[in-house]
Amino acid sequence: MATVASSIAVVTCLALAGCTTAASDGGDPVVVATTTILGSVVGDITECAGGTTETLMPVGVDPHDFSASSEQVAHMATAQLVVVNGLDLEGGLTDAIASAEGEGAEVMEVAPLIDPLPFGEQSSSDSDTAGSLDPHFWNDVSRMATVATLVGDKLAEVTGDDAYAECGGEAHDALEATDQQVRDILSVIPAERRVLVTDHEAFGYFADAYDFEIAGVIVPGGSTLAEASSQELADLVEVIQEKNVPAIFSNVALSSALVDTIAAEAGTSIEVVALYVGSVGSAGSGAESYPDMMTTNAQLIADALG
Ligand SMILES: [Zn+2]
Repeated sequence: MATVASSIAVVTCLALAGCTTAASDGGDPVVVATTTILGSVVGDITECAGGTTETLMPVGVDPHDFSASSEQVAHMATAQLVVVNGLDLEGGLTDAIASAEGEGAEVMEVAPLIDPLPFGEQSSSDSDTAGSLDPHFWNDVSRMATVATLVGDKLAEVTGDDAYAECGGEAHDALEATDQQVRDILSVIPAERRVLVTDHEAFGYFADAYDFEIAGVIVPGGSTLAEASSQELADLVEVIQEKNVPAIFSNVALSSALVDTIAAEAGTSIEVVALYVGSVGSAGSGAESYPDMMTTNAQLIADALG
């Protein structure tokens, strides 16, 4: 029976344009996700429900600075759902997302759906992010748990398969457990040492959710693509010294040269610790999935400040 069924499938397949390509790479993805972080969470939901997720960005890439290939744009157009972070995180994908949408793709921007926060005071007044909403919501695991529910529900709607809603709910519960794990890891840090200096303004949600103060950022504003003036860097060194900041956090995906210079200028005992900021970690890093990335970051921060 299996042979007959698969023969019929092959014949049906041959009659459909584009089917050969789809069959050779395991079928069209149900979901295309932009970032590796969304790819991890959405991939768990689709895997649980028997579907697939294709992630556009490779591991370790800076999401502010990534453009899609024309093949990837084509995949976006044929997926049943395209899950996008939104709020201008994917600055290099704006045209690709618009063009996929023009071809009929269903695009779900998740960051606007989770009660987004405005950027904090670290956005310099001349930065184009001042007064706008912060896209880095994943640094609050509880908000990501909400996204899992919303994506599961949306997938159930577009596919007609309720398993997606159920799997979204399971992913939500697992992420709420991760959120508690992050809180437990961070609990060793005393109140007066809950101060962060990071490479760019990506930790506003983290500070809000887990009770930290952002003392400063190396690159002003909400993207990695800006450049700090020498005055801004001098001001930052002063803040680090004033607040007695024991560690500065750099970004695994980017060169830490500038962060190292700032740390050296501010004092000899200041540690530079690289966090997973805009992507999950590579194989063997221990941060390969979104939950592992978040508990790894929490542990690195707890070790540096605790
Ligand atoms: Zn960022």
